[in-house]
Amino acid sequence: MARMPTVDADRTDELAPGDDLRAFVDASPSPSHAVAEMARRLTAAGFTEMAEVDRWELAPGAARFTVRRGGSLVAFRVGSAPLSASGMRLVGAHTDSPTFKVRPNNDVRQAGYRLVGVEPYGGALLHTWLDRELTVAGRVALRGGGTALVRLPGAPLRFPSLAIHLDRSVREGLTLDPQRHLVPVWSRDLGSEPGLAEALAEAAGVPADDVVGHDLVLTDTQPAARAGGDGTWIAAPRLDDLACCHSGLTALLAAPAGERTQVLVCNDHEEVGSGSMAGARGSFLEDVVARLVAATDPGDPQALHRTVARSVLVSADMGHAVHPTRADRHESAHTPQLGGGPVLKLNANQAYATDALGGGWFTERCAAAGVPVQHFVTRADLPCGSTVGPLTATRLGIATVDVGAPMLAMHSCRELASALDVPLMVGALSACLTD
Ligand SMILES: [Zn+2]
Repeated sequence: MARMPTVDADRTDELAPGDDLRAFVDASPSPSHAVAEMARRLTAAGFTEMAEVDRWELAPGAARFTVRRGGSLVAFRVGSAPLSASGMRLVGAHTDSPTFKVRPNNDVRQAGYRLVGVEPYGGALLHTWLDRELTVAGRVALRGGGTALVRLPGAPLRFPSLAIHLDRSVREGLTLDPQRHLVPVWSRDLGSEPGLAEALAEAAGVPADDVVGHDLVLTDTQPAARAGGDGTWIAAPRLDDLACCHSGLTALLAAPAGERTQVLVCNDHEEVGSGSMAGARGSFLEDVVARLVAATDPGDPQALHRTVARSVLVSADMGHAVHPTRADRHESAHTPQLGGGPVLKLNANQAYATDALGGGWFTERCAAAGVPVQHFVTRADLPCGSTVGPLTATRLGIATVDVGAPMLAMHSCRELASALDVPLMVGALSACLTD
């Protein structure tokens, strides 16, 4: 029998959209890594970074991006028309995902083990973190003011399940107390072995004393994978909302320059309510838009408000595909399918910002691009999740439409989406950015 060729399909130059999403997720174990990966891709495509402390000189066609606090990014391509005459087309997403953050005093010793003290971040499905090969990733602050991205090699951390023989009550349902039960184990406590602090310093390439602060999260080490009977699904951590960061970025990079200014905003801290200077309740997008207008459309004191009034933001955050064995949890006339295209999210009580005009506009853009649209609403007897869309709409007064790609197992350590939705989302967002 002839030997199968050993070419790895993942290593071809032309990545399929699903493969590129998997590579993006694997490169983005923390919000800071996601922003660094987006910055790398933007830079490779000719975008240049500007610091918020710099004076911004912007001309039509300028392709720029700026980063706030390491975990949030705004990228834009300045259109040829004055902003107040054409408005902007924006895509928004979020860089963070439910996880655990490493505590400041994290060296825990008990039962002969060294453990790492962590605090839950956002609404994780806690049980999905058990028995997985975990590491630590994020950003450390260095003495003197710099920062370094770190991801510890290997799989140094783990939440081991308790054997069923030691607690038969688990058959009635697993109850996890994060304070007592979810402290990941690092090693045996032999007294002198290196701990997390030493490993972080080594990863950052500095003496341990030079690490003066950290934003570190637990992250699964298993690479994103093709899944499903036909291989078109993507099993991966953090698809909510890295999949939309990826689609938005891909759409922006592919969009031709036009009359209108095109903007991508990816905020940190969505999973914890967005209330930070880098989150969607903060001033980041508003500040960038004000500076864009001031730099390109000076002289008219009403230019900012005229720009905002002409603009549309597509808030892209993952949506719930109908569950194969729990379809009863979905509204029976609204059952998004994996691979069925973007999901337009609506809620009578404004948990989503989509209204008739915005939804209609998005639907028309998708139709023109040949992209099918699905609809999501919650059951009347279930509360509705929310997203950055209503926050941005409220804060800036920009017309906003809430959309997302369909997925299963949202907020699991290992989520599931379809590679078929990647080009559909990119197509939809491209059509919106170039409208
Ligand atoms: Zn989300």
